[in-house]
Amino acid sequence: MTAVKRSATQIRQDFIDFFVEQRHTFVPSSSLVPGGDQTLLFTNAGMVQFKDVFLGVDKRPYNRAANSQKCMRVAGKHNDLDDVGRDDTHHTFFEMLGNWSFGDYYKPEAIDWAWQLLTQVWGLEKGDLWATCFRDDQGDIPEDDEAAVVWRKQPGMNPDHVLFFGRKDNFWEMAETGPCGPCSEIHIDRGLKYCEKQYIPGHVCQVNGDCARFLELWNLVFIQYNRLSPTKLEPLPAKHVDTGMGFERIVSVLQDVSSNYRTDLFTPLLDSVQQMTRHSNEEREENFTPYRVIGDHSRAAAFLIADGVVPGNTGRNYVCRMIIRRAARFGGKIGLNEPFLARVAEKVIEQYGDFYPELVRNRKAILDNLTREEERFQRTVDSGVAKLESLLARLVARGERVLPGGQAFSLYATYGLPVEITRDIAREQGLDVDEPGFRQAMEEHRLASGAGEAFGPLGGEDVDIYRELMAGLEEQGKLQLQGVVYNPYEWLEVEGPLLAMVRDGKPVFAAQPGDRVELILPETGFYIESGGQVSDTGTIVAAAEPAWEMRVVDMRRPAAGIIVHVAEVVQGEPEVGRQAIARVDALRRQDIMRNHTATHLLHAELRTVLGEHARQAGSLVAPDRLRFDFTHPQAVTAEELERIEAGVNRDILGGYNLNIKIKPLQQAIGEGATALFGEKYGEIVRTITIGGTDPFSYELCGGTHVEETGDIGLFLITSEGSAAAGIRRIEAVTGRGAYELVMRRFRVLKQASDLLSAPQDEVTLKIQDLMADLGEARKQISGLKQMQAQNAMIRHLDVAAEVKGVRVLTATLDDVDAETLRAMTDRFRQRYPSGVAVLASVSPDGHPALVASVSEDLVKRGLHAGELVKHVAASLGGSGGGRPTMAQAGGKDAANLEKALASVTGWVEAHLAG
Ligand SMILES: [Zn+2]
Ligand SMILES: [Zn+2]
Repeated sequence: MTAVKRSATQIRQDFIDFFVEQRHTFVPSSSLVPGGDQTLLFTNAGMVQFKDVFLGVDKRPYNRAANSQKCMRVAGKHNDLDDVGRDDTHHTFFEMLGNWSFGDYYKPEAIDWAWQLLTQVWGLEKGDLWATCFRDDQGDIPEDDEAAVVWRKQPGMNPDHVLFFGRKDNFWEMAETGPCGPCSEIHIDRGLKYCEKQYIPGHVCQVNGDCARFLELWNLVFIQYNRLSPTKLEPLPAKHVDTGMGFERIVSVLQDVSSNYRTDLFTPLLDSVQQMTRHSNEEREENFTPYRVIGDHSRAAAFLIADGVVPGNTGRNYVCRMIIRRAARFGGKIGLNEPFLARVAEKVIEQYGDFYPELVRNRKAILDNLTREEERFQRTVDSGVAKLESLLARLVARGERVLPGGQAFSLYATYGLPVEITRDIAREQGLDVDEPGFRQAMEEHRLASGAGEAFGPLGGEDVDIYRELMAGLEEQGKLQLQGVVYNPYEWLEVEGPLLAMVRDGKPVFAAQPGDRVELILPETGFYIESGGQVSDTGTIVAAAEPAWEMRVVDMRRPAAGIIVHVAEVVQGEPEVGRQAIARVDALRRQDIMRNHTATHLLHAELRTVLGEHARQAGSLVAPDRLRFDFTHPQAVTAEELERIEAGVNRDILGGYNLNIKIKPLQQAIGEGATALFGEKYGEIVRTITIGGTDPFSYELCGGTHVEETGDIGLFLITSEGSAAAGIRRIEAVTGRGAYELVMRRFRVLKQASDLLSAPQDEVTLKIQDLMADLGEARKQISGLKQMQAQNAMIRHLDVAAEVKGVRVLTATLDDVDAETLRAMTDRFRQRYPSGVAVLASVSPDGHPALVASVSEDLVKRGLHAGELVKHVAASLGGSGGGRPTMAQAGGKDAANLEKALASVTGWVEAHLAG
């Protein structure tokens, strides 16, 4: 290896600089949470953010792009977690370097540049490099000779190093149908010293072989077909290039180390672990697996939290929780029993923060979440592992090898032990876990707890019919090339011809009253739901006789440039070609705008009052209310809520103008604009700044807003609660909604004031007075009742029975509490120093209460008040107990009370000794 050792940071920059020189646009990595793609848990390849460009539903202002993309592969089809820690090449989080051509350059340039970068910029030995091209093993698709020819003529390329492989290695498909094409891979021969199988008889080191000597470095995909069916391909009119190079791998090659974990991407992280364990270098080598797991997982968790994914119970949040806990457990194996991941994450932020500033911006959230999650896990891990050990021991004793999924789930639900950790521990003992069973149990639990499905299917869009319609309209010159002109910011009313109507998925020329149709106009001011703001509604009417009217109930955008009004025909018969006037419901829109601007104020105020970690996790901007979800670990207190509400109203009354500007995404991010979680942004973004020269709110936002904050009117919070683990939800009203709420409250106050005959300001005083009076009255009633009970008691005392010379009294007193019953037994005792009394009372709701009293001398003769009262209560469907001299019980049903009391004399007779 003659290459100069470069730092990983330098290598990443080399790649980007090289392609920017070849007139590529540098496109920053998109979030780990794929924007607008419901089918993916995490961004798992560089092309994810360009998928719609290849599918033809999105257009970009550039046709060459290069980047380094953050990726996660931890669940689903691409699941590398099993291998992470066990080997030197797998990661949960990784970076993918890539360059793209969207219908621009093709194979010759892509191959030339790859060769130049590897051999000239990075100085890799030409003789070590190999290239593979596509030759169909099924004989249907033409061989990619075009690529092979270009490879063979690269300066210094050994022609024998150009090989052909079949579909498995060298044909790329996005899905069962859609864009696809041959690919060309570059492999490097790292020399015999990297072959770990050289002593295995019959082993041959080769490209696409099974040892570590040959490594695939870079995959160049040439997208030239559209797959229509398993056997049918058609050539694409525009051909694309999509390349991917694993960053960690190329760094390990250029730094000439045997493991990705021995590159400078990881060594600072692992060094920090070693400082904490105080291991010698030998001990660090002996424990390299825990070191690798900690290095990988702390890096992944830091990036996840920076993208707004905090630890939680389902979906992405579960993944974040699981990797933190798994890292914590491996830390435990090398003696790290206190939270330690924040210290490793500091190194991640240091190492990656320049290229990924979101790490620096979210530093506090990253460190706090890691430590909090480790602490949570520490509370339960020991009992969880102990429980698991005993379950595993029982399996072994029964000669079984697989832990049932239901048991794995209850370990998670009860002890917070993620199934991945359960699996680690089981495998350490040569056992396995029924993971499909775990997922099923988890799903059942999630559905049962009402959480719903995490990832719904993609909306079945009838994109094709609209694409055809649009193409026709463009050809006839009725539509501009970029499609329907959309300006919800300035137009509440537009006039234009009805270009097309679709009913039941088919284009129609005319529609009847009652029909539900979708229609296209050349321009529209109707807002399409996005960024939480709901779609506009309104009307579309004929601009001239004969009259007709449609009510717009929804808006949608099946693909870029295609905007569809979903409408119901109210009257008349609209026809394609007729001139129409489309009016947004302006009053409703005004309400929506108040709520949207208030949402920005609320977001800013939450961060001021609760801290920078309080970030948007979802929002709804509707006409009647706004709903805002944000990350915050505990309930917002009443005092905090009051400060937040007051702060927003202060900003409203400040009468700040909204400063709305269009600028490049990178500039806005650089200026500190808040980008929203899970949102997909283009190159050019709309920014909303509020607060004059020293703005307190700066967000990327495509929504519609009031002109100045004073337009919002009043802002009132109506509720605060939990939306999901670690996520709180605030609902609020503004403007007309707030006015209506205040009016409702005033009405209640006025009714109260009328009922109390007190001025409104004195209502609470008056209520306090009434409550005091009521307390006094209750006391009097209770005194009277007691007196009444005493009088009744005196009558009962006169007729107490005698059993074997012992006085026995049973009596029912009207509607008194247990306290009074006990007081009455004292009366009995005063009259009869030796004796047994059972007193009962039935409460107004029909529940009997009992008190039994036995004098000391009779206790010595074998009577026990507790047993007696239990005996009586048993036939009343109740139970009770107490001391030998005094006991108490309650019952459910008073129907048998008389009979139960009558049984007392018999009981006494039976139990009385001597
Ligand atoms: Zn080998
Ligand atoms: Zn907004």
